[in-house]
Amino acid sequence: MADSTRRNKNRCSFCGRTEDEVNFLITGMYGFICDDCARQAYDIVQETQRKSKGVSSLNLDELPKPQEIKAFLDQYVIGQDDAKRYLSVSVYNHYKRLLQKDNGDDVEIEKSNIIMVGSTGTGKTLLARTIAKLLHVPFTIVDATVLTEAGYVGEDIESILTRLLQVADYNVAEAERGIVFIDEIDKIARKGDNPSITRDVSGEGVQQGLLKLLEGSVVNVPPQGGRKHPEQKMIAVNTKNILFICGGAFDGIEKKIAQRLNTHVVGYNAVRNTASIDKNNLMQYISPQDLKSFGLIPEIIGRLPVLTYLNPLNRTALRAILTEPKNSIIRQYVKLFEMDNVKLSFEDEVYEYVVDKAIEYKLGARGLRSIVEAIMMDAMYEIPSEHADSFVVTLDYAKKQLEKANVARLQNA
Ligand code: ADP
Repeated sequence: MADSTRRNKNRCSFCGRTEDEVNFLITGMYGFICDDCARQAYDIVQETQRKSKGVSSLNLDELPKPQEIKAFLDQYVIGQDDAKRYLSVSVYNHYKRLLQKDNGDDVEIEKSNIIMVGSTGTGKTLLARTIAKLLHVPFTIVDATVLTEAGYVGEDIESILTRLLQVADYNVAEAERGIVFIDEIDKIARKGDNPSITRDVSGEGVQQGLLKLLEGSVVNVPPQGGRKHPEQKMIAVNTKNILFICGGAFDGIEKKIAQRLNTHVVGYNAVRNTASIDKNNLMQYISPQDLKSFGLIPEIIGRLPVLTYLNPLNRTALRAILTEPKNSIIRQYVKLFEMDNVKLSFEDEVYEYVVDKAIEYKLGARGLRSIVEAIMMDAMYEIPSEHADSFVVTLDYAKKQLEKANVARLQNA
């Protein structure tokens, strides 16, 4: 009897389990599929699609054009038009290089690694991450501060490629056409401007190591990174087609730019030149020479031929960052509340207030989130249990909440 009930039950056509044995069954024209099997099927489809996007499947017609790449970046990143244009073109050219065929004309498109200079919190990493969303090639972000010369405590330069191999699922051919974002490149600058009397472990040695990668060479990469697995078999990776994007704050580089501009403006057209210099944003005049004065070795600079900058974020930009990007901070809170069926809204003055505070405490764009978080903490704690259907953040409320929160704590964030 029990057996016949079991037989009469609906069951998954893939694993055979009955409806009692699974969370739920999805009904199709000729049978059922359980939630577990549906999920597995989805994973298989994803995996197959990912694998099928092999090296050969890149197609110039399908690639986003520079203007499309920029339009995509515009949805997530406020301002920084110059950097966006440079990045868009470089990434597009990177694809073209990957697609170039040797038709005997001896013209070989060389890669143009990029360096982005801009104060911390102006959107360098955000740009890199956003580009990654759009790409069909492996992409990874690594931090230059952890790199040291072989033999010293820290990570070997080759470990940069370990990450790339990992995101490419150890598919070497895939990794070899990937993009690597190296953050905080300024931290490996040579200390002081005199070409070392004693060898500078933290800076120049690392730069020399990095040079090898940027130039394009075959590098032996520890597949699991680090030196913790001395027995691991190295994987040879050719970096010739890997695009490197470097980013750094280069704190104080404005001084070097100013010095250079000053020395340049002596001459018959000095007056005209000085008049047109925007002293509030010297970064826009950055040139390879300034990177050299800062302590990057000329060989590295030569391997990063595309140099672009990010603007400091002013009031208007901070205000826009709060609400405009597709996943702006405010939109994220609205969504959080929406999940509790609460309609969250803000008085316009609140936005101005948040921006004021971010500027006052010199917190920049990163601070916007911590300020909004401090304002919203109590509401996020209370509202889900209160069955309210809407919540308006007024200026008074925002002020009260922020005063209650320990702003000094935010400053250390
Ligand atoms: P960094 O230049 O130090 O790499 P990030 O890209 O990490 O700065 O920016 C920190 C945070 O500040 C980002 O997560 C983002 O929320 C915000 N932010 C910074 N600049 C911008 C911008 N131009 N547009 C939108 N958000 C930004």
